[in-house]
Amino acid sequence: MSGNAVRMQAIKGVEAYVPPAVSFTAGETPGEVFGANVFSKAEMQKRLPKSVYKSVLATIDHAALLDPLVADAVAAAMKDWAMEKGATHYAHVFYPLTGLTAEKHDSFLEPAGDGSALAEFAGKTLTQGEPDASSFPSGGLRNTFEARGYTGWDVTSPAYVLESPNGNTLCIPTVFVSMNGDALDHKTPLLRSQQSMARHAERVLRLFGHAKPDAVVSFCGPEQEYFLVDRHFFLARPDLLNAGRTLFGAKPPKGQEFDDHYFGAIPGRVLGYMLDTERELFKLGIPAKTRHNEVAPGQFEIAPVFERANVAADHQQLLMTTFKRLARQHGMECLFHEKPFEGINGSGKHVNFSLGNATEGNLLLPGDTPHENAQFLVFCAAVIRGVHKYGGLLRASVASASNDHRLGANEAPPAIISIFLGDQLADVFDQVAKGGATSSKEKGTLIIGVDTLPVLPTDPGDRNRTSPFAFTGNRFEFRAPGSQQTVAGPMVTINTIMAEALDHIATELETAVAAGTEFNVAVQKLLEKIMTDHGAIVFNGDGYSDDWQVEAAARGLPNLRTTLDALPELVSESAMELFGTYGVFSEREMHSRYEIGLEHYALSVGVEARLTLEVGATSVLPAAVRHQTEVALNLGALRAAGVEPDATALEEVTAPLAELRSALATLRSALDERGGSTAMEGARHAQDALLPAIAAVRAAADVLEGVVADDLWPLPTYQEMLYIL
Ligand code: ADP
Ligand code: MG
Repeated sequence: MSGNAVRMQAIKGVEAYVPPAVSFTAGETPGEVFGANVFSKAEMQKRLPKSVYKSVLATIDHAALLDPLVADAVAAAMKDWAMEKGATHYAHVFYPLTGLTAEKHDSFLEPAGDGSALAEFAGKTLTQGEPDASSFPSGGLRNTFEARGYTGWDVTSPAYVLESPNGNTLCIPTVFVSMNGDALDHKTPLLRSQQSMARHAERVLRLFGHAKPDAVVSFCGPEQEYFLVDRHFFLARPDLLNAGRTLFGAKPPKGQEFDDHYFGAIPGRVLGYMLDTERELFKLGIPAKTRHNEVAPGQFEIAPVFERANVAADHQQLLMTTFKRLARQHGMECLFHEKPFEGINGSGKHVNFSLGNATEGNLLLPGDTPHENAQFLVFCAAVIRGVHKYGGLLRASVASASNDHRLGANEAPPAIISIFLGDQLADVFDQVAKGGATSSKEKGTLIIGVDTLPVLPTDPGDRNRTSPFAFTGNRFEFRAPGSQQTVAGPMVTINTIMAEALDHIATELETAVAAGTEFNVAVQKLLEKIMTDHGAIVFNGDGYSDDWQVEAAARGLPNLRTTLDALPELVSESAMELFGTYGVFSEREMHSRYEIGLEHYALSVGVEARLTLEVGATSVLPAAVRHQTEVALNLGALRAAGVEPDATALEEVTAPLAELRSALATLRSALDERGGSTAMEGARHAQDALLPAIAAVRAAADVLEGVVADDLWPLPTYQEMLYIL
């Protein structure tokens, strides 16, 4: 068998691909499908007594406390609905700090004592669960003897039925906490941060004359980038299979230089897949909307319509599992890793953020009238203050070993957090900062809320892809989050820094007004002060340029290049104070998240190191040795025949082969070293010893890929993986 048998078999497999049967019922309309498997408000209204429904609605829409008396009624209705949908089991779904989704399934059936069984689902079972927590990361929050963890229903995120060929399950989105209430998940802090942000946003709204503002929530619209590769190739790449990224692979002859993939026609097979995934998402009430090709070959994007942040976070997790599951049905693997292919664009998950309520709508929407403008500018200024004060924390909220391959490289926003406002808005804030500067058009003193501000753009005239935090007309787009991260992490940070900034703003304005300052004057003064103190965060230039690195340093903006630079922000004094004041994380919880971040970093780099060693030593090295032997034999034969051969071919393989051997030896000894006893020491060892050793093995292997005879090369190439779909 030749050395490339696995590759050739994979290619044959791709050729033999037969798409799965069409799952659509002819004549079905999207409207019929949307939310079909969701226990929606409409479904509740149909099935619940009026008073019960009203009570649940008050909890969902107005953040009222859930009345335990209504839980039983809701549970009964939910169970009936789910069983009609074929559900036999229910599951509390939660989001532990592994970053994945966890579910504990239970049957509805309870033995009745007489040999039969009854379907039971009490209110208490709906609202609370008790999964064993001992195998989830807690970063020292829990001793193993306190294995218990609690799940609690998030009433604001709808329950749904998940279908599978072998049976359906009622899924209930929940928080996950330890026995003493410490958050063990991503949802708990998200709900806490949302509540805090809302309280202070409402204070600001009252100052603007909205006597009884409706509950403010934060919205999140995630744009998800991903790669698709044929599963035959995926299975022939142990690195993709186990680490989610290729640890070997020379740059293909045709990269993405032609820019011919971006927004190009979607390949038929991929379109079929997209239609199927969207239908699944629709059934689950996930508003999938935009789909297109991305920059890199084999890369695509899906953007659901924005929703309140906790629902968007749940939906986003569900979207990823749905994409993975359906890709397999279509003979493909969906890759969410931030950098599956070196030298090819990575994948992000842009988090579009805004805040608002039912009566005011979106608070980041510039209005047409000066008064609305002033309110908008105040909320905008809150973002400016928050991002400037806590840029390091935002960076830390997206820190991971895999995202490090993206941030700071010239394709994703730099690790320096700055804000892009766009020309017009930047100009308005410039004038504000100069306090009473004359606006060019009106030639009057610019006092917010009195004189006419220019009508602000709702449609961004310009885009800046190099900015990590960009205003895009009615929202801010945080572009640093990685494609496989939960949006909950960044959203917790955004909500909390907004809570702090809005608290500050409300307090300042309340004090000024109480002291007799006219409101508009107070607003003008406050905006001016915020721009003086925090204007340094605004940068409209090219974030990829070297000049920006220098200028950002001069402005005092942190440049936290790697995860290990960024994570300590989580346990800084200012972070502790921020999260403590706004009731989002206790110091214990922050320490636990810091530890888990470090452990996760060391673990994932460790896996990559062991994989590199294994594939390098057992696939690449033997292929190169075979090639070297063939070449040497050939040279010998030529000499024996009296022909003086050109020995370059031998040198070409011998030199990188020697390098590969020595790099493998270095990697092996780096793996043998102990990383130290603390989590930080372990992570440092991964960063400083393992990562360079992995890179050195790869460098030698990639040279060999260009030298070794193709029929000996064992690993599917970039060309095959990226262009054969
Ligand atoms: P673009 O590629 O131009 O950034 P997309 O259409 O790909 O835009 O994605 C934009 C994302 O922003 C979508 O998820 C969309 O729902 C979301 N979005 C739009 N308006 C808001 C808003 N007010 N708040 C939060 N997200 C929003
Ligand atoms: Mg987009």
